[in-house]
Amino acid sequence: MAGIMILGEAGELVEIVAPHYSVKTVASAEEALNAVSGGAVEAVVVSMTKDNVGLIPVLSQTPSGRIPVLVITDGNLEHERHALEMGANDFISKPYHEKLVLNRLKNALNGTDNAWDKAFGEAQGLEIQKLQRAMDMDPLTGLLNRSSFYKQGAELLKNTDKPYFVVYFDISCFKVLNDLFNMETGDLVLSTAGYYFPSVVGDTGLAARFEADHFVLLIEKDKLDIERILYDLDNHIETLGINHTIRFFAGIYEVTDKTVHIDRMCDGAHIALNKIKGSYGVRYAYYDESLREIMVREQTLVRDMEIALVENQFKIYMQAIYDTSKRRIVSAEALVRWEHPTLNYIPPNQFVPLFEKNGFIVRLDRYVWEEVCKFLRAEWDTFGEVIPVSVNVSRLNFYNRDLLDYLLSLVQKYELEPSMIRLEITETAYMDEPEKIISMIKEFRAHGFAVMMDDFGSGHSSLSMLKNLPVDVLKLDMSFTREAGSSKRVYAILKFIMDLSKALTMDVIVEGVETKDQLDVIASLGCHKIQGYYFGRPMPKDDFMRTLEEQFEREKAVR
Ligand code: C2E
Ligand code: MG
Ligand code: MG
Repeated sequence: MAGIMILGEAGELVEIVAPHYSVKTVASAEEALNAVSGGAVEAVVVSMTKDNVGLIPVLSQTPSGRIPVLVITDGNLEHERHALEMGANDFISKPYHEKLVLNRLKNALNGTDNAWDKAFGEAQGLEIQKLQRAMDMDPLTGLLNRSSFYKQGAELLKNTDKPYFVVYFDISCFKVLNDLFNMETGDLVLSTAGYYFPSVVGDTGLAARFEADHFVLLIEKDKLDIERILYDLDNHIETLGINHTIRFFAGIYEVTDKTVHIDRMCDGAHIALNKIKGSYGVRYAYYDESLREIMVREQTLVRDMEIALVENQFKIYMQAIYDTSKRRIVSAEALVRWEHPTLNYIPPNQFVPLFEKNGFIVRLDRYVWEEVCKFLRAEWDTFGEVIPVSVNVSRLNFYNRDLLDYLLSLVQKYELEPSMIRLEITETAYMDEPEKIISMIKEFRAHGFAVMMDDFGSGHSSLSMLKNLPVDVLKLDMSFTREAGSSKRVYAILKFIMDLSKALTMDVIVEGVETKDQLDVIASLGCHKIQGYYFGRPMPKDDFMRTLEEQFEREKAVR
């Protein structure tokens, strides 16, 4: 009997699966990883949470090869897309339908290539046949659905020598349409498009709706006139008389290598689409190799992140924050880098955004904070004094109710004081859920942690927002520093911010000061806390410890 591991779900699902497979339920990522590496697991079912999605690439790799991962969803299409991007094979949606659940599990265990043939062969009762048809077809438009598109598309490409394209369409702001009007209006748009697409691909191609407003075509090269298709779509939709601009966008993938799995081809077209989505004027884009490289690299990073954490591949760098009036380093910012065994040095802007998408940043941040605590402990033990260090707190952390408890437990574990750790929260995070964030910030401060607003001025911060925000320090974004000397406007804004921060008793740190000229301009504004290459680049924490040692010794000699 095949072994199925279920993470984060019990009850009804186990009752459905247990009579047919040997089931192991686990509750935590650790347990799940142990079970999978134990070898007895042949397929994994996970509930859809941010952490679990991050685990998909890890759980699917076992010592004995790749095993399928199915994700339990509540029908949220955004989640489903995300899970697929992370390498999930299929979904099980709630409420559970016993036959569907078992069918999907069976397909996953049999491998995607032949699962459908087998399912057909085994379809005996009328009910299963009906189910099968429903599973092949999108009920709203009558087009193929995702899985039957994959199956039929692979078959079609196998049997032709002609050149083909995969084209991925979606509508800009379809959600808005559903919000402004009603479901029926949205459905009307979708079925109008669904009616049009088969005529475009003819009898040598395929048309599918994957989900919501996502349509995918497999189309012969000769038949693809993308501008014409978009023009026709516009016209068809216009005849519906909906008082709202509805625009389709398209990403196009040229099938050059037929050994590439068809779901990857669709991913490629989708990536090309995402590149232009939301832009004005541009309605379609082609997938190219540079995008492929990005995708492959991202997949590698996601695949390797767990192991990197365990193996301490993430390194803490420290950058000095210098006070020009005191002529000393008064604090530092901890910045993470990844020393990957084969990709070498990776800067944070290449993985932090990725980990913010899959949720892993929460674990990485906690790791960084703990390393910082160890650093502070060592500093205190060695020099008898400590300069505070600021850490970056990704917005995702605010979804964890125990954030404050966690920070306090770290402080306690290393016998530090909360004032030694400062929390940098990026400006845009405040915009997500201002009330919740503000109340959490108040709690941090009440417990002695200083809170800084990072990258101030990079987003859409309004100055009025400042009066509601109980932060201790503003970190001015680098873009200001660059222009402070050349633009009178920027200078005037900076002056205003400086005055305001004084009135609100907030400290200001200016980021990105690289030259003496920049330093002079900033100094003329009355700002003397500087973080920038001029005073020092981020350096490995041990080197920074030596820099501090020199400073402490110099100061002791003067005393
Ligand atoms: P940030 O928090 O605004 O950090 C400041 C960035 O500016 C750092 O880039 C730093 O190296 C860079 N910088 C400092 N002075 C200068 C200068 O004079 N010139 C120039 N050109 N750059 C300067 P870095 O280390 O590449 O980090 C980029 C971003 O990645 C950080 O921006 C932060 O948002 C994020 N990040 C870094 N470490 C972590 C972390 O542990 N957790 C989280 N959540 N995010 C992190
Ligand atoms: Mg920062
Ligand atoms: Mg910053």
